[in-house]
Amino acid sequence: MSALPADVQRLMRPSAAALEPYDPAFTPVAVNLSANENAYGLPESAHAAMVEAVAQAVANRYPVPLANDLRAALADLHGVAPEQVIVGNGGDELLFNLFLAFGGAGHTVVHCPPDFSVYDLYGELAECEMRPVWRDLETFALDEEGLLEAARDASVTIITSPNNPTSDLAPRALIERLCQESAGLVLADEAYMEFAPEGSSCVDLLAAYPNLLVLRTFSKAYALAGARVGYVMGSPGVISALAAVRQPYSVSSLDQAAALAVLSHREELEAVVAQIVRNREVLREALLAMEPLGVRVWPAAGNFLLIRVPQAADVRRRLRDEHEVLVRDFSSAPGLDGCLRVTVGTEEENRRFIEGLTAILRGE
Ligand code: PMP
Repeated sequence: MSALPADVQRLMRPSAAALEPYDPAFTPVAVNLSANENAYGLPESAHAAMVEAVAQAVANRYPVPLANDLRAALADLHGVAPEQVIVGNGGDELLFNLFLAFGGAGHTVVHCPPDFSVYDLYGELAECEMRPVWRDLETFALDEEGLLEAARDASVTIITSPNNPTSDLAPRALIERLCQESAGLVLADEAYMEFAPEGSSCVDLLAAYPNLLVLRTFSKAYALAGARVGYVMGSPGVISALAAVRQPYSVSSLDQAAALAVLSHREELEAVVAQIVRNREVLREALLAMEPLGVRVWPAAGNFLLIRVPQAADVRRRLRDEHEVLVRDFSSAPGLDGCLRVTVGTEEENRRFIEGLTAILRGE
């Protein structure tokens, strides 16, 4: 059932009238492990540089449309040309632009659920033919042959690596084969790649495959979810197509300045990312030890873990109401029975989560 009133729905474009507005299911709590943000925030000197850069930003003029300084810095970081980078109002905007430019009636978009729910939302809105290739629902492994077959004539194929919400990596060799065998574009959504082992990204494949796109964001490792800055890298022609459909001034001068300042302090952020990765492994060990209480946990390459627990929706509610810990409930999403997604927090936050979960599952 749509949440929109019937008299409003009647006036809407049909593809939008059926949609449910995206709901992050957020409530204020002491420990928020629900949105895969960077729990530590920026290190002090990076934060100071960001504040200074925002203070200097020119706000009475429109922003530079394609964020040229940031674009050049990102190109430099990844060893591509500036024309191969487009900056957006979060990765979300660029995903929307991708569906707008390359989707629409008669255009097929392949993706591998359970994955990021926004793909279906934008796909429906842009009237694409969505072609899901489901993962194995025990291991969440990709159906590689099914995917290659489905991608052959698709306009766009999306591979999320690490995947949200399952946190597993896609094999680089598979992405390479998709680029070779698909007539359309292949988007590697690498929003969480900074938390994965070295060598997992497929940015280096951009040099070989003009149909490959790679999405990154400042919302996760770079601790700037509130600023809304993401970017996509690809061949200049495809990047121009994304630029053609975008809102001209979607990334504010303040956000461009903030992202550039944080980027220039990325060495300090590497230490934060390393800490989050260590915390993830400690959290995973603690969850593995809770198997006798009915907990299942999958391997993880992002800054979050997918777990399965008995009475998941109830556990999530009690964690929130009795322990001030918010996690994300996926238990009613297709293919994710009993699943909750837990963002890796600080050591203290993770301890509170484990304590709360243990108390609930022990029936205390
Ligand atoms: N891709 C994936 C897989 C995500 O999980 C997210 C954020 N939840 C995004 C892209 C977009 O992130 P943002 O808009 O914050 O850059």
